[in-house]
Amino acid sequence: MHDPWSKSIQYLKGVGPSKAGLLNKLGIFTIYDLIEHYPRRYEDRSILKPINALICGSVETFQAKVLNIIDTKPRPNMIITKARVQDKTGVANLVWFNQPYKKKSLKIGMDLIISGKVQMKFSQSEILNPEIETIDSSDLINTGRIVPIYPANENISQKWLRSLLWQILGNGQNKNDVEILPQAIVQQYALLDRYNAILNIHFPQDTDLLAKAHHRLAFEELYLLQCGLSYMKHKNKHRCIGIKHSQDGDLIKKIMSSLPFGLTNDQKHVLTEIKTDMEDTVAMQRLIQGDVGSGKTIVAALALAKTVENGFQGAMMAPTEILSEQHYESLTALFKPFGVRVALLTGRLAKHRRQEILQKIKQGQANIVVGTHALIQDDVEFNNLGLVVTDEQHRFGVLQRARLQQKGAMPDVLVMTATPIPRTLALTVYGDLDISSIRQLPPGRKPIRTFIRDSAARKRVYEFVSSEAGKGRQAYVVCPLVEESEKIEAQAAVTMYDELTSGYLKNIPCGLIHGKMNNKDKEAIMANFYSGQLKVLIATTVIEVGVNVPNATVMVIEGADRFGLAQLHQLRGRIGRGVHLSYCILISDTKNEDTKERLTILTKTNDGFMLAEEDLRLRGPGQFFGTRQHGMPDLKIADILKDTRILLEARKAVEWTLSTSDRFNLVRPALVKWFGSSYMMIFCH
Ligand code: ADP
Ligand code: MG
Repeated sequence: MHDPWSKSIQYLKGVGPSKAGLLNKLGIFTIYDLIEHYPRRYEDRSILKPINALICGSVETFQAKVLNIIDTKPRPNMIITKARVQDKTGVANLVWFNQPYKKKSLKIGMDLIISGKVQMKFSQSEILNPEIETIDSSDLINTGRIVPIYPANENISQKWLRSLLWQILGNGQNKNDVEILPQAIVQQYALLDRYNAILNIHFPQDTDLLAKAHHRLAFEELYLLQCGLSYMKHKNKHRCIGIKHSQDGDLIKKIMSSLPFGLTNDQKHVLTEIKTDMEDTVAMQRLIQGDVGSGKTIVAALALAKTVENGFQGAMMAPTEILSEQHYESLTALFKPFGVRVALLTGRLAKHRRQEILQKIKQGQANIVVGTHALIQDDVEFNNLGLVVTDEQHRFGVLQRARLQQKGAMPDVLVMTATPIPRTLALTVYGDLDISSIRQLPPGRKPIRTFIRDSAARKRVYEFVSSEAGKGRQAYVVCPLVEESEKIEAQAAVTMYDELTSGYLKNIPCGLIHGKMNNKDKEAIMANFYSGQLKVLIATTVIEVGVNVPNATVMVIEGADRFGLAQLHQLRGRIGRGVHLSYCILISDTKNEDTKERLTILTKTNDGFMLAEEDLRLRGPGQFFGTRQHGMPDLKIADILKDTRILLEARKAVEWTLSTSDRFNLVRPALVKWFGSSYMMIFCH
């Protein structure tokens, strides 16, 4: 397909290597990336108001000249920049906190377009942290219309972004080459054509066309996402006949009766769903979602028992070495009495040991193989893989799952996730999987008590940690999340460890664990924490999944506002696993009301499903998954909660597509493009 927008942004006038570098920092490499850099919001600058008509409490736009600019420093850590501006009807004050660079960008006599929420101070209009732009009267894309405001930074101006987008879209070239949806769908759902949708999402002619543009682009996104997932599901169900397991035999029955507890009703129900799938010829593609500690692992273990008693091998893939080792140990304990051989394959095995294990896997001497993504490397060959389990799916992509599956002749696939997905979202993000849920926790769990404290209370918090340690309990301290790099995060953890061990926790045996440590050291620390020798484990998010120390009853999370709700809940799931009452303390100094509200939800509920709904409501789906998740294409424009109606419409369109004789042929190029070229192999054979 001829695609005028797949070229590098350097094809644009005014974008050389250094400017391109700035755009790259925003994730923009191609012209299409720039087109998908959708406005964060819009400002209606089609009507500029006179200063004397500004309404207190509303967001207004007006034009005025700068009279003077002053910086003041009322406190050591605060700089206030004030600018007084004037038009024919009056004066207004602009105020910025701690943005000293504003002063440099302003000059007396400058004409500005100003936008922001208006307050009244001493009967004059005042705008806190306003958006300002200098006027260039020849330029019709920055004023006199509904203007896009983009996500940007200090090095990239709104004006420059607008001019680049206008360069791409303004003259109507490529108008007829860019449609990617089947014409029948565009007509059936009365969608705006793609060019006009893109033009109006950036430069809306009016609010009506803006709404239509949003509708069209959200539809397209949700349609392609669901098409892609249905494609995979469809391919698996219809083209690939899987393994037919027989009904329960000896092994699964014996293991069941060896358990020290009975399964909960939810576990029983999910197990039945899994067995039904496994006994069918069509390959299983099932997700188990259940909160941390809800007992997913034992259900997966029983499914593995089923495949083993049918003469197949089972594989279980986990996202971290710690978690793989833990699964290895619990599966070994469960299976060994029955002569089932469990092997562990991780990235750090010595070469000859690895060869040995690979050999056992290939010859079928290992019945169950547990490992990290080391399992999907090319040199791993299975003898006869019957079931693939991947744990904590949100760390793995659809693609990795497909790759592990390809190591067998269509084995059954079971995915476990502790990140509960709201129903509306589940349909979309796991559209290629059937979903089972475990909502009920095993009996006897004590709810975790959660508190929010600011850093002024740290002394008391750590006194509490010490007193719990004195009673024989253990604690985790999680260091603030650093998104930039694992290295900086590790350094921050070291600093926190030094601070605590020479201060509040001086007399308590503490350990440190972070992602940059070598495996041997990590292992030693974990072993000492498991054995109870270490009372406090100071850690980065490496402990987020899987770690199971029932004696740990306190979790302190520093800089809690930097984490997503789902992630905090996941971390909190490390405690509350034993007989003692557990406490989670979120330390945060945030002044942001939304963030406070978000954290407060954690103090009110321990139900992960409810949290997920709330988090989604407050932050939107992109945030829910966090920036580190892989494999899920981001939604750029659709909002699953707000656009549910469009989501359902798009589902209908997908059903129609499936019912046509062409099936996916019409949309295949769009799918490949939208999911990214790494998905090519999945969509093109
Ligand atoms: P998940 O993987 O869902 O986070 P696990 O499978 O690790 O949870 O289970 C957490 C703990 O609960 C384990 O120690 C497990 O042995 C125990 N457990 C699981 N199911 C039950 C049950 N039905 N009754 C009592 N304890 C259970
Ligand atoms: Mg688990």
